Amino acid sequence: MTLDLIVRGGTIVDGSGMGRYRADVGVKGGRIVEIGRIRAPAQRVLDADGLIVAPGFIDGHTHMDAQVNWDFSGTSSCWHGVTTVMMGNCGFALAPCPADQREWFARCLSAVEDIPLEAMLAGIDWTWESFPEYLATVDRLPKALNYGSYIAHSPLRMTVMGERALSEKATEDDIRNMQAAVREAMRAGAIGFSTSRASTHITPDGTPVASRLADWSELDALVGVMAEMDAGIFQIGPDVANGAAHRAFLAQLKQTAIASGRPVMFGVISTKQGDNPNPYTYQMEYLEQCVAEGARMWGQTTTKSINAIFSLKSYLPFDQLPHWKQIRGLSAAEQQRALRDPALREKLVADEAAMKPRDNVFQGGGAATTDPRKPDYANLFAMMDVKWEDPTIAQLSARDNKHPVEVMMDLMVANENQVFVQPLVNEQPDHVLDMLKHPWTLATFSDSGAHVCQEMGSSLQTHMISYWVNQKQAFTLEQAIRRLTFDNATAWELNDRGLVRAGYMADLVVFDEKGIRPAMPTVESDLPGDARRLVQKAEGITATVVNGQVAFENGNATGNMGGVLLKGAGAA
Ligand SMILES: [Zn+2]
Repeated sequence: MTLDLIVRGGTIVDGSGMGRYRADVGVKGGRIVEIGRIRAPAQRVLDADGLIVAPGFIDGHTHMDAQVNWDFSGTSSCWHGVTTVMMGNCGFALAPCPADQREWFARCLSAVEDIPLEAMLAGIDWTWESFPEYLATVDRLPKALNYGSYIAHSPLRMTVMGERALSEKATEDDIRNMQAAVREAMRAGAIGFSTSRASTHITPDGTPVASRLADWSELDALVGVMAEMDAGIFQIGPDVANGAAHRAFLAQLKQTAIASGRPVMFGVISTKQGDNPNPYTYQMEYLEQCVAEGARMWGQTTTKSINAIFSLKSYLPFDQLPHWKQIRGLSAAEQQRALRDPALREKLVADEAAMKPRDNVFQGGGAATTDPRKPDYANLFAMMDVKWEDPTIAQLSARDNKHPVEVMMDLMVANENQVFVQPLVNEQPDHVLDMLKHPWTLATFSDSGAHVCQEMGSSLQTHMISYWVNQKQAFTLEQAIRRLTFDNATAWELNDRGLVRAGYMADLVVFDEKGIRPAMPTVESDLPGDARRLVQKAEGITATVVNGQVAFENGNATGNMGGVLLKGAGAA
């Protein structure tokens, strides 16, 4: 038998957490068919001598719903060893959507997730109205990665209820119509149903997104459809506005999880924002209680802080200040020239005194960049490397005896790509580590495809290995790989992915154990309509294989589009 592909001579870290071993991996028809010393010939041989061969990484929390239409490679996730992503998270998506409402729905996605409207208008051939039609479009599109999608609550509610979705409770008729649409979506292949209660999720008019108008009986009715079908995952963006709201949210969620029996997922974070925020340990204990009482529940966590990212080419905290406003529309080189002008510098520094004072309102990556408070310079880092040992602006200011704003201006004059990082949540690495080590959390939550100029979560997998395994020795490579592969495959019910095993789909990542790491993020204008975004590549990944096809070699797309649409357990 001639194989399609042999990955030759690598060290297999198979995703189960078991110890590594050396073997070849043989692939045919998209699946792993043989592991061992393979003597059969093959169409293609990938040399993995001295390299690790692991299952492709699985990211269950992305917002690539729009991007999948124009970016067939799946950047920036694809550069970090990711082979499978889930989209439609947090109740946001581009389907269902009536034809005459497209721009408004896109505007809502733009407001919440910072996906540029001009990119969506230029990059999407918007032919669908129903959710099944959207899935059929994704199925048809060329794609290097595998995609699954939730049916998302906000567009569903807006489609069924029209403008009432943004101001009213659902009637019994509305709920029946939404239930029918959820049932239809699950049959078409949705992996579940998603919604959001998060106070950071607002429409372009500053009002709560549609899903936040729902009361819990509406959520129970919609999750109930999945319970009836005995299929589908319930994903929800938590209300973390303050500690009391968060506790009330979690109490409700527990009842829904136990009553429905469906797998439930929500974001766990460590935060100091909001009034009396709960310690991150509250969520850990909560997960244990829920599971003990019969719920199937996971907390989604990241592998690092979730940040607002600033730079000359994207947002700065000072964008709305009068003298800054005059120069921020200029090219990077022109801005650098302006930042060197002594008279203007004085005004730019003086402007900062008038900024909104800091408060403890919970801000996500969106508001922190578009509605910034006066920066806490002791929590604003000048990113110099990907080791996360960067100096704060406060430290540089004290060292050089300069105003913090001058420090930032000088860094931007010296380097037009200088990036500043303001951790919003998960600021303390030891909290992140505790959350990552918990048995009922998942290492996911890149938000890839969203917050394109505000955050850079797409590197969470390479960060997991370079930081937590290589730099901190907090996990073995085997444990870290299991977190990124088998554990996520299990949670998202991907029964033939997440392990290097005969019979499993051949999603593989081949990398240098010590050399793998994220590259520095940069701002590029490479979206449709020349819209800008943060881009982050990686080092040390030799090849990524998706369903048996080599999709990336040394960070470059091969043009092979082996990705597929993944359907949930309710698919007819
Ligand atoms: Zn999300």
